[in-house]
Amino acid sequence: SAKRHGRNVSQRFRPALDVQDSPHMALVYSLRDALANGDQLELHYQTQHRTADGTVVGMEALLRWRHPEHGMVSPGDFIPLAERHGLMGQLGNWVIDEALGQMARWRELGLPQLPVWINISAIQMFQGELESALSSGLARHGIPAEQLGLELTESVLLDERAGDIVPRLEALRESGHRIAIDDFGTGYSSLSYLKRLPLDKIKLDRAFIRSLPSDTADAAIVGAVLAMARGLAMDVVAEGVETEGQLSFLRDAGCALVQGFFYSRPVSAQALEAQWQQAAGGAQPSPGALHSES
Ligand code: C2E
Ligand code: MG
Ligand code: MG
Ligand code: MG
Repeated sequence: SAKRHGRNVSQRFRPALDVQDSPHMALVYSLRDALANGDQLELHYQTQHRTADGTVVGMEALLRWRHPEHGMVSPGDFIPLAERHGLMGQLGNWVIDEALGQMARWRELGLPQLPVWINISAIQMFQGELESALSSGLARHGIPAEQLGLELTESVLLDERAGDIVPRLEALRESGHRIAIDDFGTGYSSLSYLKRLPLDKIKLDRAFIRSLPSDTADAAIVGAVLAMARGLAMDVVAEGVETEGQLSFLRDAGCALVQGFFYSRPVSAQALEAQWQQAAGGAQPSPGALHSES
């Protein structure tokens, strides 16, 4: 039925294109529709917590696409498509505007002003529109740059198409943004760039967290990254923390921050608001309170 859908879509939009050669084109066309209409795209928010007491210190915005026929399409599936088919610039700009608009709305509602971290793709870096999209979005919504963190993966940071990334990261930080390296440890890069790149935060990939605390190799790697980050004055967030055992290992190892299903799955803005408003005095959601993907 994806094939049938693809044919229909191609007749509607691109009669010259042979969609049978690229079955995913139907998805590309409906993503273009989604971007034009805006109503199928959402950001969900996953809180980040202090290991010491579970306090929420910020959140990551994660893109969601509610496809009218396929239901929720995973960003791991449609972001690579968007990148390959020239939609990622627009999609990235939508994320920036949506996150900032949501933050402005939370401020109006009197909800806590926590930093939000967004993911930045390679294309946003090398197309060079990132800085202007950020500064116009911040101005439009009246949000300080300090409240909007940027997560870049190793592959984005090392993508040569982006030119020399160091002065750009320095400029972004000078304007107030904080920068995190995402999925740390999964790329092909050497450690030497950690010294060269102006970064605030290391997000330790969940591949190293999954088998804690029993896997001694992972435990050693996590300990080494924490020691290194301390020396470099960078924060570490452990990703993908799902169990109490992982959490207490990380806390004992000196990892101050975690993100993962143990505390919360990514939830819609409305679900997050409901939690906040439920909490006494509109304070923070209690640890472990946000458990349903909605
Ligand atoms: P990421 O930036 O590393 O985001 C973390 C991913 O891990 C998210 O998957 C999140 O739902 C998932 N996760 C969080 N905690 C746990 C846990 O305890 N266990 C497990 N198994 N998974 C957990 P998601 O939302 O499917 O996003 C996948 C990737 O898609 C992201 O990885 C990011 O690279 C990309 N992505 C998502 N939103 C955006 C966006 O707005 N822009 C760009 N460029 N990329 C995005
Ligand atoms: Mg991320
Ligand atoms: Mg990550
Ligand atoms: Mg990832």
